[in-house]
Amino acid sequence: MVKVERSFPAPESLAIESQKHNGRYNCEDVVMQLIHDFHDKCYLCEISPLQDPQVEHLLPHKNGRYPKRKFDWNNLFWSCGHCNSMKNKAKYDDGIIDCCVVDPEEIMSFDFKGKEVNIEAVEAEEPIVQRTVELLNEVYNNENTGMRKHNCALRVRALCEEMDVFYHTLEEYTRNRQDRVTVRSLKALLSRQSRFAAFKRYYIRNHSNTFPELLPLVDR
Ligand SMILES: [Zn+2]
Repeated sequence: MVKVERSFPAPESLAIESQKHNGRYNCEDVVMQLIHDFHDKCYLCEISPLQDPQVEHLLPHKNGRYPKRKFDWNNLFWSCGHCNSMKNKAKYDDGIIDCCVVDPEEIMSFDFKGKEVNIEAVEAEEPIVQRTVELLNEVYNNENTGMRKHNCALRVRALCEEMDVFYHTLEEYTRNRQDRVTVRSLKALLSRQSRFAAFKRYYIRNHSNTFPELLPLVDR
């Protein structure tokens, strides 16, 4: 999970649809603006591109019981079906952190070692941070049902592939730190737009002694 810059004004259809009895919050303008702002990446697991995208409500609207939440642009997020279903539990009803407002990298660590995902709160003990950490660990590690286990494994495999490319590029960089092509690749791999950015960016911060000159690329 990385910071996302939400664009404004809000898509026009939201105000129009909110006046209708059975208005929709996922009209084309909403979908296009979410794809643009979230770089077609699930804001929770960071898999990309999405084959099963969904418009997720940060605070649930409970089948229209909270109509304001249903059409509030600030409450709409771009997510995959797996993460949306993971978050759809009573324990997350009070919400998780808003990655368009708070920088997740400032309050959480995103460790990936030996094919194990481990996300922890850096220091904050606030319940909303704890809930976010719990959910993020669940989207990679939940083994409750066969389908969830499968979807988690898919994400860990994709994360593994991305980290392999990243480690390989870092090796090339270590051999020749002046090589422009490698530096350009590293910049792309470390941008917030890239898939699983939080894990790669954390790796650089965690190895700041080896790569101090790369820290500006992962500035928060
Ligand atoms: Zn996801």
